[in-house]
Amino acid sequence: MVSRVIPVDEFDLVIFGATGDLAHRKILPGLFRRWLAGQIPEGARIIGAARTQQDAAAFRAEAIAAIKEYSGTPPDAASLDSFAAHLDYIAVDATGETGWDTLAKTMRPGVIRAFYFSVAPALFGAIAERLASHGIADADSRIVVEKPFGRDLESARALNGTLAQHFAEGQIYRIDHYLGKETVQNLMAVRFANMLFEPLWNAQNIDHVQITVAETVGVAGRGSYYDQSGAIRDMVQNHMMQLLCLIAMEPPWHFDPDAVRDEKLKVIRALAPIGPEDIVRGQYRGPAEDYRADAENPDSRTESFVALKVEIANWRWTGTPFYLRTGKRLRARTSEIAVIFKEPPHSIFDESDPPANALVIKLQPNEGMTLRVNIKEPGPGGMRLVQVPLDMSFAEALGPDGTDMPDAYERLIMDVIRGNQTLFMRGDEVEAAWAWTDPIIRAWDEAAASPEAYDPGSGGPEEASRLMHRDNRRWREIRA
Ligand code: NAP
Repeated sequence: MVSRVIPVDEFDLVIFGATGDLAHRKILPGLFRRWLAGQIPEGARIIGAARTQQDAAAFRAEAIAAIKEYSGTPPDAASLDSFAAHLDYIAVDATGETGWDTLAKTMRPGVIRAFYFSVAPALFGAIAERLASHGIADADSRIVVEKPFGRDLESARALNGTLAQHFAEGQIYRIDHYLGKETVQNLMAVRFANMLFEPLWNAQNIDHVQITVAETVGVAGRGSYYDQSGAIRDMVQNHMMQLLCLIAMEPPWHFDPDAVRDEKLKVIRALAPIGPEDIVRGQYRGPAEDYRADAENPDSRTESFVALKVEIANWRWTGTPFYLRTGKRLRARTSEIAVIFKEPPHSIFDESDPPANALVIKLQPNEGMTLRVNIKEPGPGGMRLVQVPLDMSFAEALGPDGTDMPDAYERLIMDVIRGNQTLFMRGDEVEAAWAWTDPIIRAWDEAAASPEAYDPGSGGPEEASRLMHRDNRRWREIRA
C-alpha cells in the first residue's frame, strides 16, 4: 500500500540549534526524507541558526554529512544536493544580539514561519523574546519546543508563562515524539474507528494494562545529565503518561486538537496519588557496568528503572490497574502496551482454562499490533486450546519493508507546518502531568532511600516482579 503524500504549503523553518545532536540525528534527516517523499515544496527554506560562525555552504556540507550518517537508506548524491539547495544558515546568539537583524531580513512575507527550538530549555525564553522584539514571528508563526518541558510543576509553569508572553497557545508545539509514532496514532484509529474493541474497553472486561519502555543502553556518556533527572522525569511524566492517556481516554467528540487533548487532560486529572507500596525504583549495578560509575556520582539515588501501579479514578477504569515500567540497561530494547483482558467467567473445556486475550501494541523495535486469541489446537487429539497471535505488522501491510512509514519527527514537523496540534502536548496537560508526578518525586527525596539494585541486562529489580505477584499478575517478558 503506498501512502498518499500531500505537499505542505511553502514555509521558512528556522532551526535554532541546527549544529547540535538532535538536528543532526533527527530533524535534518527527517526533513530530507519528507523532501524525498515529495511533501516539501520547491519554495520551502530551512534556515540553520546557532552560534557557530559558518556560511551556508559549510552548513549544507554539515547537513549532508549528518543525513548520510543518520538516514536509514543511503541517499544518492543528486538528491542530497537538491535538498541542500533549500538550506541556509545564519549565525545567531540566543542570548545576545548577533544575527537577529539578519534573520529578520531573511524571513519572507506570505509564507508559513516555524521556529524549532532545538536548544537547551534555558534558552527558550531568550529566543521567544527576540523573535517577538525583532518582529521575526508573526501571529501565524509556530514555535516547536523540545523536552524536557520543566523538571517540576513550578518550572513547567514558569516556562509556559515565558512562552505565553510572546506566543498564543495555538502557536506552541510541545514535542513528545512518542505521539508521532505510527502505532500510537493507530491506537486511536483502532479504538475509535472500529466497533470491535470499544464496548470491551473498561474495567468490566480488561483485567489490567502493562506499559513497558525498556532500553538496553545505560547512561554512560550522558550520565551526569541523566543523574539530574531519572526515569520518572525522563520517561514517565511525558512519554508513558501520553501512552496511558491514549489507552484510557474517552472518545473525543471529533479528531480535533483541543477535543483530543481535553480528553487526555481528564485522564491525567483522574490519576490517583501513588503510595510508596505502588512504586519500585531500581539502579543497574554490577562490577562491569554500574549506574553510579556511569553517572559519576558514587552516592547517586537517581533511578535508572521505575515500575508503578497506577489507578485511574473514574467510572470506566476503577478496578483496572495500569502497570508502568521503564528502565535503562535492561535485557532488550522494546516498547509496548499490553491490554490484558479478563479470563472467560467459566470454562466449558475440561483440559485447559483458556488464557486471557491480550492486545499487544508494539512501538519498537517493530511497530505493530497483535491480538492473542484462543483457538483449537489443530489435529485429531480432541479439544485442546492453543493461543495464537492475530498479527498486524504495519511494515508488512503498508510497505515492502516499512521504509515509506515516516518516522515520528518527520510526521510531527510536517504537522507543525500544516498547523495541526493534535499530536502535541498542550500547556495544561504538561502541568497536570507534573502535578501528579511532583509528590511522587518529593516523597522519594524525603524518604532518602536507595533504589533496588538490578543486574545489567536483566528484566529489572526483583521488587518490580513482586509488585505484580502481590496482585496475582505477572509482567510480560521483556524481549525485542
Ligand atoms: P546539543 O547537541 O548540545 O546542541 C545544542 C545546540 O544549541 C547547538 O547547535 C548549539 O550550537 C546551540 N546553542 C547553544 N547555545 C546557543 C546560543 N546561546 N545561541 C544559539 N544557539 C546555541 O543539544 P541537543 O542534544 O541537540 O538537544 C537540543 C534540545 O533537544 C535540548 O532541549 C534537548 O533536551 C532536546 N532533546 C534532545 C534529544 C537528542 O536526542 N539529542 C532528544 C530529545 C530532546 P552552537 O554551539 O553553534 O551555538
